[in-house]
Amino acid sequence: MEKAHIHTFGCQMNEHDSQRMAIVLKREGYAFTDNPKEADLILINTCSVRENPENKVYSLLGRLSRIKRRNPDLIIGVAGCVAQQEGENILKRVKEVDLVFGTDNIFNLPSALIEVKNGNRVLLTDWMPREKNIQNFIPDEELKSGTVEGCKAYIAITKGCNNHCTFCIVPKTRGTLVSRQKENILQEAHDLISKGAKEIQILGQNVNSYQAGKSDFFDLLKSLADLEGLQRLRFTSPHPNDWNNQLSDLMADHPIICNHIHLPFQAGSDRILELMRRGHTAAEYLDKIDYLKKRIFDISITTDVIVGFPGESEEEFEETLEVIKKASFTQIYAFVYSSRPGTKAEALEDTVTKEVKDERLQRLLAVQEPIQSELLDSMIGKTVEVLIDSAHPRERRVMNGRTGGNLPVSVEDFTLNIGDLCNVTITDRKKHSLVGVSQ
Ligand code: SF4
Repeated sequence: MEKAHIHTFGCQMNEHDSQRMAIVLKREGYAFTDNPKEADLILINTCSVRENPENKVYSLLGRLSRIKRRNPDLIIGVAGCVAQQEGENILKRVKEVDLVFGTDNIFNLPSALIEVKNGNRVLLTDWMPREKNIQNFIPDEELKSGTVEGCKAYIAITKGCNNHCTFCIVPKTRGTLVSRQKENILQEAHDLISKGAKEIQILGQNVNSYQAGKSDFFDLLKSLADLEGLQRLRFTSPHPNDWNNQLSDLMADHPIICNHIHLPFQAGSDRILELMRRGHTAAEYLDKIDYLKKRIFDISITTDVIVGFPGESEEEFEETLEVIKKASFTQIYAFVYSSRPGTKAEALEDTVTKEVKDERLQRLLAVQEPIQSELLDSMIGKTVEVLIDSAHPRERRVMNGRTGGNLPVSVEDFTLNIGDLCNVTITDRKKHSLVGVSQ
């Protein structure tokens, strides 16, 4: 039996795409290995949102090329955003790569592999037709092939993005926004629940811009929240522009929708937000999360921030720190700005030096650290609902799970099973996680 190894960079959408690739390969008779040296086929699912992961792809390809020189039958494929954007350049730059396929071509993998086995190098970066903004990009015959990992499953509800934030390459690597029909999504959700999914996370680059005919994000989320057998519903990532108080009310009124939102704010200065083309001000962002906090007292808010966008002054950076102090984020994913080829911001003069960007990043983390620490401390003594999703990798009597707010918890109870939703009293905390005992 041939073996495949899939290496995934980047976001949850990429994780989900890799799951889909695995389903397609399994049907083609492949088994899977974690060891690339044992593999007959290696696929790298790439991310081009930041410079670092893209550099990592090329350094990984360098290492895999050495394996291929010892095993010429090995097939190396590159998928995802870098594949979509770089296309033929990858084939030119790394002669050991046999196959490059873009974000719209996952289901063409079997025919592409036949081509490769016939001795051809294959480039597949064509877009699916996008003349309509509704597109069931998971084909009907694949609706029942989704996988549940532990007790969790993903469903992609949209693909691409129409926002064109000036720093972001996604509209180029994932295309313009398309939304799946609601019925098509619900069919997939029913199948995943019947396979044991207790938690479903719906995915989209800008998930709350979903619109398929009369069905918008509110309507879809409500319909999913009403599904029998589902215990938790999550979504990522929403855009502040498309967030409104009705959605906050929906979350508050449906406990099945987890009390967590990852709402990127990117910068605290309105001038920088405008340069980024985010379409909202810092005050508007704060108003929206204030309402959420009023409606859901234990809401957990996480965010993305870019430090050192071209032209960001010291005062503007300090406005970002002010938002962080006011918002009380559970966690921040902060990155120093790096110019991405093909984005609008590429044309802006990158005036902030690397030293200043690095120093600002450290200051930002230093502001966030005590906020996060206090939030974790405040959990000690509370009893919270935890969905058990895995066994602890080292401690035999401990199971792992997450709170609705998405905080990781280790639970000292070996009688628990994956998929159990249990009440846990928090007894201690580690740097980024909690420890508790079940009730
Ligand atoms: S909303 Fe902006 S940052 Fe998010 S995917 Fe779309 S263009 Fe990129």
